[in-house]
This record gives sequence, structure tokens and C-alpha cells, in this order.
Amino acid sequence: PDFEQAKEVEEKGTNNFETEDEFENPANRSLLNKLIRRSLVESPYNVEVLQRDPKSPLYSVKTFEELHLKRALLDGVYAMGFNRPSKIQANALPMMLADPPQNLIAQSQSGTGKTAAFALAMLSRVEAKKSYPQCICLSPTFELALQTGKVIEEMGKFCDEVKVVYAVRGNRPSRGSHIDAQIIIGTPGTVMDWCFKLRLVDVSNISVFVLDEADVMINVQGHSDHSIRVKRAMPKTCQMLLFSATFEDSVWCFAERIVPDPNIIKLKKEELTLDNIQQFYVACECKEQKYSTLCNLYGIITIAQAIIFCQTRKIASWLSRQLSDDGHGVVLLSGELAVSDRAHMIHRFREGKEKVLVTTNVCARGIDVEQVSIVVNFDLPLNVDGSVDYETYLHRIGRTGRFGKKGIAMNLVEKKCLHMLQEIEKQFKTRIKKLNNQDFDDME
Ligand code: ADP
Repeated sequence: PDFEQAKEVEEKGTNNFETEDEFENPANRSLLNKLIRRSLVESPYNVEVLQRDPKSPLYSVKTFEELHLKRALLDGVYAMGFNRPSKIQANALPMMLADPPQNLIAQSQSGTGKTAAFALAMLSRVEAKKSYPQCICLSPTFELALQTGKVIEEMGKFCDEVKVVYAVRGNRPSRGSHIDAQIIIGTPGTVMDWCFKLRLVDVSNISVFVLDEADVMINVQGHSDHSIRVKRAMPKTCQMLLFSATFEDSVWCFAERIVPDPNIIKLKKEELTLDNIQQFYVACECKEQKYSTLCNLYGIITIAQAIIFCQTRKIASWLSRQLSDDGHGVVLLSGELAVSDRAHMIHRFREGKEKVLVTTNVCARGIDVEQVSIVVNFDLPLNVDGSVDYETYLHRIGRTGRFGKKGIAMNLVEKKCLHMLQEIEKQFKTRIKKLNNQDFDDME
């Protein structure tokens, strides 16, 4: 690896790769995705359905009308601009709204419509005339709870008597006081307190129990236990619904403890490929030469939009400073920014208000940057041991097939690291073409 980088790693330990960074935190990543997403992520795959009772007829809906929702709720759905159910909704909603209620475990990547689905299910099940809690939804963090609550409130805005209350830190009604909201949304510890310590909720009245972001949940200390304790108190008749963006074994074990006799719905995530990407490299002597190469490239990359990746925060901030000192428009997406500031910046970038974004892996990981047609690897992505981090390489420049968009990836590589390019070529069975500084004029 780059000597500077190696030295930095030695000096500061792995921290320099931001692995300890709070933005590595899955809850923050999930929140960030919610904040920047404005539309549905559609998958080219079909939903896989595993029914608890394989003999019962399987059906999916094509319209929200088919669900026979209350008028006010249907109006709320349409007012949000939802014309028809997403893939996951088309299959999950009939099960979620069936009578007698059925339990469900649903897994699909973020942005596929899970939150909207359970918001609708809760709003559809509550009896507005009864002013006490009937639905509980657990979220992993304060911010995620508020975000989900907002969706429920918006969808239910024409359901006049339906209220949402937040069982999160800072909101502490006095012991034994009456809660008239039908829907409680909160974090597991606080919900547990509300149910058992403060006795604010008569759990025997709960008819829907939702556990959102199960994969994030199990990574927060104490959340699994608290969730299971809340779940155990629910009446036998209570409908259990669990959602997750990913489904590793640990999530699965947890899901089985929360949801008895479940129907299971899964939607596969589309794989990234390098098929539509033209990859190039320029061999450079040192960091400074990488920089001057980048400056030569600037005319080309700013025709479209570009993301420039650096291995460390330190290099990213050095690079963005250098670029702006030299009069180039650039923004730095840094791990030091608050999640909402980061979301704001990515938003501006997506809207084309910013042309060039300099960042590190951690900052951009998990964020969908499909529209970016040029990616510059100012540094090749490396593992802590100095070997090529293939997964991150693919994640930085790969695109899903469905967009069919062409992209360009430019690798600025120090001569001593050139062998890594061959390793990448071999790994992905792909070609990375050599460019010289003078070739750039031809590219324009
Ligand atoms: P998830 O919970 O799987 O991350 P969301 O329910 O938050 O997904 O939906 C992702 C985005 O798509 C949100 O902006 C949401 O408003 C929107 N959305 C959800 N369902 C639909 C739909 N049926 N039609 C159009 N947009 C939708």
C-alpha cells in the first residue's frame, strides 16, 4: 500500500480506515438512506413467498383498491403519491390484512416499501373510536422511530381520530397516566418501561406488534432482549410482523423468537456488476502526481458528475482543500458531519447542485449513487492488511443491470501498486485500460 497510508495506519491503528466511525453504524446508515430516498427501489426479481399454510390460496394485489381499505386511509395512501403497491406490498399486504390475522416475516432491501406496508397495516387494523394503544411498533433508534412515525402520521392524516405516540427517550408520561393514542412507536427499552414499569399500556389490548429493522435491532446492545420481553407480554391473538433489509442467520434466529408460525416473504437484491463500466487507470509516481492527473481530468469529469474516493479521511480532506484552493468546485462528504447534514449534501449532489464529491468508503457505503457516471479512485480501496478490497471496489463503481447505465471508472494508481490492477481484473474477469495523461484530450 501507499507508504503514507501504511504509516497512518501504523500510527493510528485501524481507526484511520474509519471502521470505528459512527457512520459505520447500521442505524445511521439506515436513517441516511431514508432521509435521502424519495422514491421506491424496484427489484427486477420476483418476490419469494413461503406460506405457513401452503394449501391456502396465494394472492397478490395489483391496486390499493383491492385491499378494501377505509376510505380515509386509501385517500392518505394516494395523497402520498402511491399509485400502486410495490412488489413487496403487493404480496405482503393481503397477508397482513387477512382475517384472521397472520404473522409475517418480510425481508427486502431498504427502499422497497416495507415501512409503508406496515404503516398501512397498523392504520387499517386500529379502531379509531377506541382511544387506547392497540398497535406497537419497535424501531432501533430514536431517529428511526420518529422517521417511521412521520410516515404513519402522514398516511393516516385523513383518519381523524387515529393518533401516534412516541415511546422514546425524553418522552416520559407519568406513571399510570392514560395514553389515548392507538399506535405506539418507540425503541425497545422505553416501550418496555411504558408497558411494565410505568403501566401506561394495557398489553392485552395490543392487536398488532411490529418489529422494524430487525437486522439493525440485533446489533444494538440490549434491544433483542427488550424486544423479546415486550413480545412475550402480547396476547396470543396479537399479529406479529417483522421486517429486515438483510437476512443473515442471526436475524433469522431472532425473527423466529419474535414471530411464531410466520408467513415469509423475501425479495432478492440485485447484484452489482462491472459489465457496463469502462475502467481505466493512470500510473502515477506519487500523491502529487495523482493530484495533477486529477486536475487534468477535471474538465472531463465535470461534464457529468463524479465521486472521488479516498482511502482515508485525511487524504479526502487534503484533496478537497487542494482542489478548492486551485479553484475547482468540490464538496467533501466527511465522517465528521451529522447524519442529517450528510443527507443534505448527498441530496444537493443528486440534484446536480454539486458536481464533484470527495469522500471515503465509509461515508458512501450503503448509499445508492447510481446516477453518478464517473467514479475516480484517488486511492484503490484496500483492506487493513494492504490487500485489495474487492467488495468495496465493486461497490464504488459497480451498477445494477437494470439501469443499464454506462459508467466510467478512473483509477489513479502509484506504480508500486500496479499489480493490484491485475488482481482486480482477475477477480472480476474484467479489463482496466491504461491511459496516459495526454489521452485525456482525446476523451473529451
Ligand atoms: P423500506 O421501508 O423498505 O425502506 P419505504 O416504505 O420507506 O421502504 O419506501 C421507500 C420509498 O418509496 C419512500 O420514499 C416511500 O414514500 C416510497 N413508497 C413506498 N411505497 C410506495 C408505493 N406503493 N408507490 C410509490 N412510492 C412508494
